[in-house]
Amino acid sequence: MILGKYSFGIGDRFSHQGKPQLAALIKAKQQGLDITPVWNKSHREHTIIGTTHADTRKEADDAVAAYGWDRPYLVDADHIGLNNVDEFMEYSDFFTLDVADYIGQKADEADVESFVQKYKKYIGTLAIDGIDETIDISEEQIASIADKSLMAVQQAGRIYRHIAKVKGTDNFITEVSMDETDQPQTPVEMLFILAAIADEGIPAQTVAPKFTGRFNKGVDYVGDVKGFAKEFEEDVAVVAFAVREFGLPENLKLSIHSGSDKFSIYAPMADVLKKFDAGLHIKTAGTTWLEELIGLALAGGEGLLIAKQAYAESLSRMDELCGPYQSVIDIKKAKLPDPQEVEKWSGERFASALRHDQSCKHYNNDLRQLLHVAYKVAAEMGTRFYDALDKHEDIIAQNVTENIYERHIKPLFLK
Ligand SMILES: [Zn+2]
Repeated sequence: MILGKYSFGIGDRFSHQGKPQLAALIKAKQQGLDITPVWNKSHREHTIIGTTHADTRKEADDAVAAYGWDRPYLVDADHIGLNNVDEFMEYSDFFTLDVADYIGQKADEADVESFVQKYKKYIGTLAIDGIDETIDISEEQIASIADKSLMAVQQAGRIYRHIAKVKGTDNFITEVSMDETDQPQTPVEMLFILAAIADEGIPAQTVAPKFTGRFNKGVDYVGDVKGFAKEFEEDVAVVAFAVREFGLPENLKLSIHSGSDKFSIYAPMADVLKKFDAGLHIKTAGTTWLEELIGLALAGGEGLLIAKQAYAESLSRMDELCGPYQSVIDIKKAKLPDPQEVEKWSGERFASALRHDQSCKHYNNDLRQLLHVAYKVAAEMGTRFYDALDKHEDIIAQNVTENIYERHIKPLFLK
C-alpha cells in the first residue's frame, strides 16, 4: 500500500461531515491536484464522544460511495500504542504509531553501543543536499540521540510488527509520531531516528516530529516563523537523504500534526515543498466540529441556542475540558467574552468570533480554542445536537468544505 504524495488528515469528531470534507478534496482534484483523504480519529476522541471505530470507517465508506470517489482513501488509527491498537485493527488501514512517551527512556546499553558503531561513519562534517550549512556530527551526539530516542523507535517496531502480524505487511500504511513530547527534535536527531526506524524494519511512509514553536489546536502557529521555515526545510532535506541512505520507502514524507489553521507557516512550507518536490501529510485538529458550530449559529433558532449553550457550558467547565489538552492549547481567560454578552449575539456575530478569519475584528482566538476542546459538551447534548446537525446539514456542509479548501488546501498546495 502506497500513500500518495499529498494526503490530508480530516479528523471529524462526530462522524457527520465525511461528505463535505471529501467535497473539498474533489474541488482540489478538479484543479488537477491529487490529495488522499485520511479520516483520522484517536482513542481519546472516541472515548470522550462515545463513537466507535466502525463509525469512522462507515463515515469514510459512505462519503466515498456517495460521491463516487475512485481514488485511494484511508482510515487512520491515530496516536495508537500497543495497549489500544487492537480495537482499531479491523477498521483502519493507516496506523499512527505514537511513541512519544518512550522518548527519554533509556534503551539497552548494548543496543546503544551497536547503534553508535553502525553509524560512526557519519562522524565529522556531513553535507546534505538542499541544506546550505554542513552539519557537524560527533560520536557523543550519536550516542546521546540513541540514548534518548532508540527505545521509542524500538517500541514503534513492536507496534508495527504486531499490526503486520494481524493485517499483513502490505495492507496498511505506517506513520511514526513523536510530536506529543516537550522537546522538539532537531534535523540531526531526525536523521538518526530515521536510521533507527530503518534498522527496526518499519516501512514508515510518514513521520511526525515535534517542531519548534507551539502548534496549538485550531489556531495559528505561535513562534518564530523564519526559524520554523529553516527547520522544516532541513527536515525535508534530511528525509530525502535518509530515504537514499537507509533504504526507507521512497515516498517517506513529513506529517504535520495539529496542522490545521497554521496559516502563517503555510507559505514557507509551500515554498519548501516546491523546492524539494516533496510530499506532505497534514493532519487537521478536528476543527470540523467548529465549522459545525459556525453552521449551527448561522442557522439561527435552535442551532444558535445550541452554539451559545455550548459556549456557556464550556466556560463553566473549562478546567475539566482543557485537562487532556493542556500542552496544545493556550487560552487567555481574560480574553473570553462574558456568556451574558454572547447571549445577545446574532448568529452572524457568533460565527465571526469563531471562524478563523484573522482579518475580522470579531475573531477571538481564545474563544476558538475553548470551543475546540468543548466537543464533549455537544456530545452530552446527544440527539438534540445530532438532530440539529441533520437539520442544518446544508449550511454546515458549506462551511466545512470552504474551511478545508479555501483556508488549507489552497494556500498549501495551490499557491
Ligand atoms: Zn499528533
